[in-house]
Amino acid sequence: MTLPDRERAERFLKRHSDVTALQLAGGIGVRKDTAEELLSELSGAGDLDFPYEDLWYIRSRGDGDKRPAEAWGGYGQSFENADKIYTYDEVRKHPSDDWLLNAWRPSERMDHQLLIFDIDIHKAPSDFDPDRVGVPKDTPVVKSQNGGFHVYFLVNSTQTAKESDFEIVQDIPFDIDIRGEFVKHHVVAPSDIPGVQSGYTIQNDTDIARVLDADAAARSITLDGSPLLKFNRSKAGHSGGYERGEVDPPADIPKCYAAGLTLRHEAPEDENLNTHKVNVLAALSGLAHGYDIETVVDHYVEDFYPGGECHADREKTRYQVEHIAAKLDSDQYSPPTVPTLQEYGVLPQDEWCHCGLPGHSKAAENRSVFYDHDLEAIANANGIEADPYDDDRALLLACLHARDELGLEDAKPPYSALTEIAEAEHLPFADYEEQILGERTYDTASQIFRNAPPSDFEREEDDEVDEVEQFLTELELSG
Ligand SMILES: [Zn+2]
Repeated sequence: MTLPDRERAERFLKRHSDVTALQLAGGIGVRKDTAEELLSELSGAGDLDFPYEDLWYIRSRGDGDKRPAEAWGGYGQSFENADKIYTYDEVRKHPSDDWLLNAWRPSERMDHQLLIFDIDIHKAPSDFDPDRVGVPKDTPVVKSQNGGFHVYFLVNSTQTAKESDFEIVQDIPFDIDIRGEFVKHHVVAPSDIPGVQSGYTIQNDTDIARVLDADAAARSITLDGSPLLKFNRSKAGHSGGYERGEVDPPADIPKCYAAGLTLRHEAPEDENLNTHKVNVLAALSGLAHGYDIETVVDHYVEDFYPGGECHADREKTRYQVEHIAAKLDSDQYSPPTVPTLQEYGVLPQDEWCHCGLPGHSKAAENRSVFYDHDLEAIANANGIEADPYDDDRALLLACLHARDELGLEDAKPPYSALTEIAEAEHLPFADYEEQILGERTYDTASQIFRNAPPSDFEREEDDEVDEVEQFLTELELSG
């Protein structure tokens, strides 16, 4: 069996760093020019000016599909901590996958956001001269699969905008879509990026131009020399509401939405069930996941209609779903939380959903009810000086006081409070570096948490400071 050259080259480069093309050619038995090609492809050796290492990526469904393959959680989250948003380093490890670009990485500092104009010039009639459209020379232009092109900018802005804030001010026979995190939309990544596959190619390879405001970027796209677009941030509509239009529905129906649809499908006559509420919760889940009104109506009247499709009243259902969507958009309703879904029997009491809707995450599942109380106030009232949200010992002490004062004996303590106990009591960690307790230490620490008076850990803190000071003194003396 012979492996493709690329795969063999990858393996070879893993074992030997800093090889020449000749060494690679000899090592995997290919011609020198093939080795040169492989080397430049695999090293990603910065022969691109396009700053692909400074961008965030999400997985696409492949074959030029502009939709994400995974429920990646949307733009309202910390990208640094998101599971389904990838750095270029992670992209490089999966070189056969298709990727979407969605944001400028240094924007964790919130200073610049990616703004891309997707100019669908291929939709113009054949007598339209494409040269009439002007784009800046100092910013990347990426040609899309069908002949349109993407023009990239970085806007100095901490706020996002809506696509509708951009206006086409001249009469043109084609569309311009607005993309990038600035309007919470992504684009297909160009295939020039090493390890990325797509039908998109970079035409103007350069760093991305920074602009002070979106209007400057908009006006730099011209028709016969005059601005083709302008940007006018709308005053209304930025006050809130779940931005469902800016979330892509996942390929598979997520657990919480599926549970709602299934419940109304299977138990329409159950008297213990608040059918109206279940309908509303299911619709909210579906809409929050980015399914449009028509798709949710389809789910309701075709795929999940109680008692079979023929009884479905599509018009009535659409009216209801539109009503729920309007309330979601205007912030009167929010996407249902997991505890709410549990309360109405949509999800079983002991089951969580990790679909990525707000609160539908692992972190939320593991969240301790102690955090529902004002631990800072409890710390203050008990003379604990450090901030319990910042300092684990202060957190432990505040929780022990909260346990006694608020009757939280049976509540699950924060994990950090337990690691602090394990630390103080010198219990063994399964992985100290990662602060993982392991089952036995978790149980032991939980038991101590239930029974120990706060004073046990107040004293210990002073002792520990003394111990550290003593150790440092000894170190100084011996050094
Ligand atoms: Zn969910």
